[in-house]
Amino acid sequence: MLTTIIYRSHLRDDAPLRALEDMVTAANIKNRRSDVTGILLFNGRHFFQLLEGPEEKVKEIYRCICNDPRHHNIVELMCDYAPARRFGKVGMELFDLQKHERNDVLQAVLNKGTSKFQLTYDDRALQFFRTFVLATEKSSYFEIPAPDYWSFIADNSYTLLDESTLPSDTDFSFAFQPIIDPMSQRVIALEALIRGKNGETPAAYFGNLTPEEVYTADLRSKKIAFAMASALGLNDKMLSVNLLPMTLVNKPDAVSFLLNEIAAHGLVPEQIIVEFTESEVISRFDTFAQAVKSLKAAGICVAIDHFGAGFAGLQLLSRFQPDRIKISRELITDVHKSGPRQAIIQAIIKCCASLEIMISAVGVEKPEEWMWLESAGIEIFQGNLFAQACLNGTPSVSWPEKK
Ligand code: C2E
Ligand code: MN
Ligand code: MN
Repeated sequence: MLTTIIYRSHLRDDAPLRALEDMVTAANIKNRRSDVTGILLFNGRHFFQLLEGPEEKVKEIYRCICNDPRHHNIVELMCDYAPARRFGKVGMELFDLQKHERNDVLQAVLNKGTSKFQLTYDDRALQFFRTFVLATEKSSYFEIPAPDYWSFIADNSYTLLDESTLPSDTDFSFAFQPIIDPMSQRVIALEALIRGKNGETPAAYFGNLTPEEVYTADLRSKKIAFAMASALGLNDKMLSVNLLPMTLVNKPDAVSFLLNEIAAHGLVPEQIIVEFTESEVISRFDTFAQAVKSLKAAGICVAIDHFGAGFAGLQLLSRFQPDRIKISRELITDVHKSGPRQAIIQAIIKCCASLEIMISAVGVEKPEEWMWLESAGIEIFQGNLFAQACLNGTPSVSWPEKK
């Protein structure tokens, strides 16, 4: 299928400019062989390229381009399908924007068009050209340093609860994962993640229960989460716990149970964050909203988990505003390489800034993901890059330090 990929990248600062023409010549020969055509723009620092051709060939060439050390910060802006090539005749034409007037470049690009209908700016691909040539995208394109710019140094702060403080009469336990502000080197909160006795995942643990048992277990388990957090010593940290929205809906005593257990373990409601995944709540939203009101009235902080995945979408924010949202790992993974994910996250950030909702990013595994998210304005992170969840305790945290 005829496929179009558009990407942007940054020429490596120490790459000789003279080599540009040679690069294009070499790429041209290779692309012709693969029947891939397109246009390459260069503005003195950045490349912008459109590749068109058979799907497999375009993707193969794009993979090679991603591995080319002569440029970095490669972001895929568009991957789309079309009935015909826009630039059928050109192998790979280079336009150096430094040598042409902006309007001339746009016209020259249009003149290269070979589609049956005259190329128009209604076309997404052409809109991307215009944006790049007019340089109107600058504020959303971040230059992030190479991944080895930072070292991640473990602070050896890990703590395991000893046997005597662990729950003995339950078939589950909790792992704790720090939620941190890497730049100020502060642990903001610990998230309690349920585990089977032998470390089984939450899905495996809940999978063994009937639906009715799940809600009871979900709620009752929080007593153990509070006990373990209290034994770990929270100090000025907050404690985040997960709750199914339907647990609140189906267990009318949920809020009073939580408040009692919070107090029984020497914690205060203002220290507790309840995270909801909005997966099944729609049907009884009013009951859910009522329970959230009681949580808030008691001083408990409310977060929407997995924001941007499944049902937890932007629309939700028009129905009620949580104190915090957590951006789901599906959106975080490789955000530094993906134009669409960058656009979605920037929209979430903008929206939450207007509503004064605090954002954190979950599932950060790569330095580049973290650096991109910091550049975008996110300050709070949770992920294996910094600290993994630790069964029956808290792990060391690896803090970034400039090399
Ligand atoms: P969640 O609330 O989004 O929790 C974060 C999950 O992402 C955890 O998985 C954590 O181990 C994982 N994670 C964190 N950083 C990384 C990373 O860098 N890479 C990768 N690959 N994973 C990372 P876990 O512990 O398996 O929990 C899965 C989900 O189970 C949780 O997602 C939460 O929605 C649910 N869950 C956990 N405990 C409870 C609970 O007590 N009650 C309810 N209802 N759900 C729970
Ligand atoms: Mn969570
Ligand atoms: Mn998750």
